[in-house]
Amino acid sequence: MPPLEEVIIIGSGWAGSTLATSLDETKYTITVISPETTTPYTPLLASAACGLYDFNIVETPIRHTSKKIKFVKAQVEDIDFKAKAVNCIPAFVDLPVKDFVLSYDIVVIAPGSTNNTFNTPGVAEHAVFLRNAKDAMKIASRIQDCFEKASIPGLTEAQQRSLLHFVIVGAGPTGVEVSSELSDLFATSYAALYPHLKPYVSIAVHDVANQVLSGFDTKLQDYAMSSFTKRNVEVLTRSHIERVEKDCLCTKENGKINAGLVIWATGNKSTALVDSLAVKKTPRNPRILTDSFLRVYTPSSELLHGVYAIGDAADVEDARLPTTAEVACQKAKYLAKLLNGKVEEEFRYQQAAIVAYLGQNDGVVSGKKDYSGRQAWIAWRSKNFLWTRTWRQKVLIVIGWALDLVTGRAIAPR
Ligand SMILES: Cc1cc2nc3c(=O)[nH]c(=O)nc-3n(C[C@H](O)[C@H](O)[C@H](O)COP(=O)(O)OP(=O)(O)OC[C@H]3O[C@@H](n4cnc5c(N)ncnc54)[C@H](O)[C@@H]3O)c2cc1C
Repeated sequence: MPPLEEVIIIGSGWAGSTLATSLDETKYTITVISPETTTPYTPLLASAACGLYDFNIVETPIRHTSKKIKFVKAQVEDIDFKAKAVNCIPAFVDLPVKDFVLSYDIVVIAPGSTNNTFNTPGVAEHAVFLRNAKDAMKIASRIQDCFEKASIPGLTEAQQRSLLHFVIVGAGPTGVEVSSELSDLFATSYAALYPHLKPYVSIAVHDVANQVLSGFDTKLQDYAMSSFTKRNVEVLTRSHIERVEKDCLCTKENGKINAGLVIWATGNKSTALVDSLAVKKTPRNPRILTDSFLRVYTPSSELLHGVYAIGDAADVEDARLPTTAEVACQKAKYLAKLLNGKVEEEFRYQQAAIVAYLGQNDGVVSGKKDYSGRQAWIAWRSKNFLWTRTWRQKVLIVIGWALDLVTGRAIAPR
């Protein structure tokens, strides 16, 4: 039997993990390289941060018991396309090996994207992001700290209000969902446990744009705006954040605003690996440009043999696809079929529904068909269920819903 071809997948996110589990192990040796040992189920993170789901179900290990996937916990620093090799640095600083090289027949570049701070001073130090289970846990524990601090005797009402002011920067689907989950959490579990603080709690969403949920239809944006008013969530559009400090943020329009927690959810920027690669890229906020078979070009538009790019890190020529898990998974499944020899035609994205939760069992759905209200909330919950991959996680999701109804949400990491 001829030796199996070596496939190296860079990244263990939605794209990398979907591809790794869909490739034919009888044809390929599959190696995933990533500094993260798990794939975060990003659509569930806001709910987990606000006590609806157990943190164990919002990520899944890349090492697979039933699939032959090799995993290397490392960062790819560079790809030598001529030598067909990737240069890596272990994700550990205390090893005698400082770097190493792995050869490939096929390389799939899927390092995703990273948080875009727009170079705003203080964001990296003082705000929190929401990308993985660790971030969700951090948010849950910071929220509880704010309530405990505000309960210390001797604080003035103004100091309590400052500690209990929660700011979300970014009014896209992630920012909107975080604000919705926070308002549900504060209206239920926290209201019951900290009744003395209820009048001092406030949530604000800031965005530089003049509307929320850009990408959704205007009617749904207006619907989302009215839901914020119902839930007492302040929305500050056209708000320019100039700086984030330990206990506050400074905006061009409103000056200094005290806050107990600032959650930064303003979108994506390219990773250091994508920035450094000499390949053809999209002009703004660079993503690797591929042809419709997801193959990567040199800067002079020649196809690189055996090099593919998928997920947030890449876009298909003339397609302008959004950076979503839907797109990442569809591309990964397509590429697996292509490499497994099960498909010959080009990749075409099948438009999927985009769902955003608005709190109080309300939501909006866009994409194939636009709708809002309770039906949209049911669609959102069904999607939560479908995103998870194992039966164990699906059972735990349903348990999360049941516990929410019976005992309320968990208020801190267990
Ligand atoms: C809070 C939140 C909620 C979301 N909700 C939804 C939703 O409801 N629906 C939806 O469709 N999309 C949603 N998204 C978007 C979705 O998560 C992304 O589009 C998706 O994760 C992209 O998958 P990816 O595999 O390209 O990148 P990622 O999932 O970001 O994974 C990239 C991986 O590459 C690794 N990596 C990075 N650099 C290197 C390197 N140099 N070497 C090796 N490995 C590297 C990273 O550690 C990571 O493991 C959400 C995103 C967030 C943050």
